[in-house]
Amino acid sequence: MDFLNRKTVEDIDVNGKRVLVRCDYNVPFDSVGNITDTKRIDESIKTLRYLIDHKAKIIICSHRGRPKGAVKPELSLAPTIPYVSKVLNQQVQIATDVIGESAQTLCANLEEGQVIMLENVRFEPGEEANDPTFAKKLAAFADIFVNDAFGTSHRAHASTAGVAAYIPAVCGYLIQKELQILGNALHTPKRPFVAILGGAKVSDKIGVIIALLDKIDTLIIGGGMAYTFMNALGYSIGNSLCESDKLDLAQDIMAKAKEKEVKFLIPIDNIIANKFAQDAQWQVADSDQIPEGWMGMDIGPKSADLFTHAIEHAGTVFWNGPLGVSEWNNFAKGTYKVAQALANSKAYSIIGGGDSAASVEKLGFATQMSHISTGGGASLELIEGLELPGISCLLQKE
Ligand code: ADP
Ligand code: MG
Repeated sequence: MDFLNRKTVEDIDVNGKRVLVRCDYNVPFDSVGNITDTKRIDESIKTLRYLIDHKAKIIICSHRGRPKGAVKPELSLAPTIPYVSKVLNQQVQIATDVIGESAQTLCANLEEGQVIMLENVRFEPGEEANDPTFAKKLAAFADIFVNDAFGTSHRAHASTAGVAAYIPAVCGYLIQKELQILGNALHTPKRPFVAILGGAKVSDKIGVIIALLDKIDTLIIGGGMAYTFMNALGYSIGNSLCESDKLDLAQDIMAKAKEKEVKFLIPIDNIIANKFAQDAQWQVADSDQIPEGWMGMDIGPKSADLFTHAIEHAGTVFWNGPLGVSEWNNFAKGTYKVAQALANSKAYSIIGGGDSAASVEKLGFATQMSHISTGGGASLELIEGLELPGISCLLQKE
């Protein structure tokens, strides 16, 4: 628990100080340059507003896309400026570089309550390499570092962790909220605690599954990875996804679940298709009746009912990974039904994972979930109990 107990902007004197704030402004744009989802910017405003109100001199930094250490004008942060200025109700200026002359001049002339932004930190090769020389130059702009980019806090980059070697570091409200919610779910969950894990591969989720087995009451496995478990149980799974080097592990996981008295649910029926394609022919098949040549693409209606029933009585639900190939409508019904069950339940519902969050949003249930984590990979690593460099670099509360 100690790991999550970090100082926030409220625990440090920011008055008149230069504050470097790491945000996640990696927002999506349409073809004419409008932001199509402003959530990441909106969620940074509470921290920025606090800093403005407390007379800090604010320097925002963020990455956008993957320029791989080179200047790529199409990945400039400049197109975020009109929206950020609008929501802060004040003009935000952007430097034309990250640590060059333009950034230095803007930082030198910063006044209390003023906000400026540096260019995309990933234009500098030192960012992702967490190069100390680059981190030191970045840190030299400020007296205090505020990390509020939860989505990149599992990366040891210069602007997410490296700078904290040179100036005191605390978190903003967004990270504080993530640590509180995920921490509570892990340490004091309302029971029964149900975890739903889907997505393509068991190998992506092993750490999370094993860590969760110590905490939860029910484990629901869906998505592509369910077929490795079915295969380990001796079912024929046709052409369904299967990681044959993970069969022993699947067996271990099922044995551990039994030993720890965790209820273990996998699909009892499936939507199967004759090929992996959006327009494939499909039908419903019980899990022990998948014909040769066909593949499992989604959970079937009986499984959706079974999972819904487990969710109905839950106190807490953590969900990661779609239960089928939810990008394609024919194979999104299982994910839809489970999202609907979660929306209707009284359980405290936490969605972690990039694709899971996207499905819940697309299906229109986002506002009915208790918490959608802003960090896909970061939320999983936190649950797994791994150290997140962007969190462990922050000052610990006494
Ligand atoms: P998240 O980003 O939420 O952690 P993942 O990236 O692990 O989720 O998994 C999402 C992917 O899993 C999606 O692209 C989806 O199409 C795929 N998937 C789900 N079910 C199946 C299946 N039965 N067969 C193949 N792929 C699947
Ligand atoms: Mg994903």
